Amino acid sequence: MIVIKFGGTSVGDADRVANAIEIVAERRQRKPIVVVSALSGVTNNLVDASEAACSQDPKRVREIIAAVRQRHEDVALQLVQQKSDFFESFIKQLDKQIEEIDTILRGIALLGEITPRARDKVMSIGEKLSSVLFAYTMMMRALPGEHVHSEEVIWTDDRFGGATPDMAKTRDAAQRVLMPLLERNRIPVMGGFIGRTEAGATTTLGRNGSDYSAAIVGAALGASEVQIWTDVDGLLTCDPRLVRGARVIDRLSFDEAAELASFGAKLHPRTLEPAIAENVPVRVLNTHNPASQGTLITRVVENAPAGPRSIARKKGIAVVHISSNKMLGAHGFLARLFDEFERLAISVDLITTSEVSVSVTVDDTQNLDKLEARLREVADVNVEADQCVIAVVGTDLLADSAVGVRVFEALRGIRLKMVSLGRSGLNLSLVVDNADADRAVESIHHALFEAPVAV
Ligand code: ASP
Ligand code: MG
Repeated sequence: MIVIKFGGTSVGDADRVANAIEIVAERRQRKPIVVVSALSGVTNNLVDASEAACSQDPKRVREIIAAVRQRHEDVALQLVQQKSDFFESFIKQLDKQIEEIDTILRGIALLGEITPRARDKVMSIGEKLSSVLFAYTMMMRALPGEHVHSEEVIWTDDRFGGATPDMAKTRDAAQRVLMPLLERNRIPVMGGFIGRTEAGATTTLGRNGSDYSAAIVGAALGASEVQIWTDVDGLLTCDPRLVRGARVIDRLSFDEAAELASFGAKLHPRTLEPAIAENVPVRVLNTHNPASQGTLITRVVENAPAGPRSIARKKGIAVVHISSNKMLGAHGFLARLFDEFERLAISVDLITTSEVSVSVTVDDTQNLDKLEARLREVADVNVEADQCVIAVVGTDLLADSAVGVRVFEALRGIRLKMVSLGRSGLNLSLVVDNADADRAVESIHHALFEAPVAV
């Protein structure tokens, strides 16, 4: 079996839903389970509605919810052209969900407070609606879609807004709920993003969490592939909005893809965790171009040459430079420094050190003033804001200094703030000013992927 996941834009309107259903129909032989995101923008609409409820603006709440309801009805109606029994049952389901959300929103208005639990309940409605819509539309088109409540399948802890699955319970539930459907040649359709706690409360897996849901289901059932359908041809050598010459990467290892996902590549950063644990291949595909093979992500890529695969960047980070003569030959100094980070709960990303200095990057700039004050008691400290990490991700980047030569040559004339490349050779990270970042990325991309002789 395979898991097929569609993102919000892939189910954003009637044409896109029809296209997605086509993609599922063509893969019927592979026993698909479908996971869908909310229609694009709906999760944000729901967040707005809960905020309007909280600030006692019932008119605005009604407007938003009516528009969300209408959008789902319109899509269904456009897809069936005429009303049928399936359409009538769909409308009943739709109204049931809308009633539920009205109740929660009234609760929020009454309390004047949005608890994390209530927020998850509200946000989960987007995927509930889209999955019901998708399943019914399949049926209206004579395909054996069957709606499954995600809360029956994905069991999580109770960290609302960013829950973690309990894989043992989820595996049992997936076997119990999904397998019998597949055996009867049904096509289960469930909403991504949603889970439930042991006590039965609805949780969400974090924004953009539907990818993660798909991987969880795939891992729970040992799928032969998890397919993430988006609106680009897979993972690219760079964000195409930054670099025109960006091209699709055919194959990536889990390690490489995880590194890219942590930089905001087209995947929820936790998506690969369950896939890695159960060794389930993940493929990223384009709904606008279903014939293309996309990017296949697996544990090992056979015959993969060492070298760079992709460039990512993260703007708006800060660098903390710390130097002190007390470090010279001393022990325990670094422990002391990092203790201050620990106390202020500041997470460190990159680190470089020399005998008398340490530089670190942090992407959450909260508490930095406090950190600076405390570190000043033992060292000279200089915090630079508005910096950008550029990561060149690949396999065994230390194998040949040609990669480094090309990267540094490409950065001629651009001031470098930090450089880091660990023994794993997975990620050569550079820090530059935000203002230099786009130029630097373009130039490195050109040197590594567009120059006549690729590295
Ligand atoms: N609908 C959710 C969001 O917008 C989850 C997802 O799209 O994957 O964050
Ligand atoms: Mg998404």
